[in-house]
Amino acid sequence: MTTESLDRFAAGKLEALARRRLARRLEPSDRLPGAVVERHGRRLISFSCNDYLGLSHHPDVVAASVEATRRYGAGAGASRLITGSNGLYERLEAQLAEIKGSEAAIVFGSGYLTNVGVIPVLAGSADLILIDELSHSCLLTGARVSRARVVEFRHNDASHAAEILQAERDEHRHCLLVTEGVFSMEGDLAPLPALEALARRHDAWLMTDDAHALGVVGRGRGSSFAFEPAIDVPLQMGTLSKAVGSYGGYLCASEGVVELLRNRARSFAYSTGLPPGTVAAASRALEIIARDPDLVGRPLAKARRFTGGLGLPPARSAIVPIVVGSAKRALDAGRRFAEAGFLVAPIRPPTVPVGTSRLRFAFSAEHRDDDIDRLIDVTAAIMAGA
Ligand SMILES: *Cc1c(COP(=O)(O)O)cnc(C)c1O
Repeated sequence: MTTESLDRFAAGKLEALARRRLARRLEPSDRLPGAVVERHGRRLISFSCNDYLGLSHHPDVVAASVEATRRYGAGAGASRLITGSNGLYERLEAQLAEIKGSEAAIVFGSGYLTNVGVIPVLAGSADLILIDELSHSCLLTGARVSRARVVEFRHNDASHAAEILQAERDEHRHCLLVTEGVFSMEGDLAPLPALEALARRHDAWLMTDDAHALGVVGRGRGSSFAFEPAIDVPLQMGTLSKAVGSYGGYLCASEGVVELLRNRARSFAYSTGLPPGTVAAASRALEIIARDPDLVGRPLAKARRFTGGLGLPPARSAIVPIVVGSAKRALDAGRRFAEAGFLVAPIRPPTVPVGTSRLRFAFSAEHRDDDIDRLIDVTAAIMAGA
């Protein structure tokens, strides 16, 4: 059955996107070991995967996944609160709490589900959420779903956050101060010492999204540990799908907060547990992260080789953006990288603000130095011609 008005609606929306060069298309992409992606029969060296340590293909991680799948099956069978909380979760949550220096941890189905689940439990209509303007879509969605008053502060601008707190904190019951630890599209770090001081002064609860920090910065422990002394962040969330190479999301917090979330977070209670193989893979990967500082140091070293070679400011994380402006320029540059054998996905609005389309380079422990050197040459040529 087709509904004409419905299809007309979809076609109209799609035409508007295409006119602005913002239409997206799925490209079948097979990720192979060694940061290689195969597309349409061609092998490209990928600088667009978040598998920063190559752990998704690590033989021990894959073996742990296969073994758990054989033993416990392909799916979890129910929500964690019913029968979907395989025994492997206990160990995984203990590992996360250990690495983050928190009392407890809770694992969700994904990072997205973590943020849309956690934030509405901690903040409601009487409360204030202060959030960095470049925060990830799922943080903003979680904030909006909470019905709290949501105010964005300028990116990494703690004094702007201070002004807003000064003006608005007293009118609200609780306040959540939200930022990414490492920004996914900028690669920079949040000014956590200043934000922690603010949170203390105004009785706000500081929350970091460490999706791109775990396994990469702070000796692999995340953004709180990238500072000396380490920053005390009571709510540290992140994902198991990037440097950990598996899937799932987590929040590290006090035992009381975690117990509240087990009871109240809707995306936890009403969504099926992760497949046991996924939990086992994450657990094995975290073991490697905890015990192999050389591996953990590699993505940042690779990113710095790249920024050094191009005379850019030294990378602070595994992510290096080069802003080109228009969506068209980003698409054209992406095509030229592909011709040279590299996968560098162009990033366009709404993922980034209008006029800041960019090339986003994500470095992995798996990248070879000579490939990075060739990438430097190709990048310099494309930028000079663009
Ligand atoms: C990727 C990402 C998420 C979502 O995590 P998933 O596990 O992929 O759902 C959340 N926050 C940030 C900053 C991210 O980059």
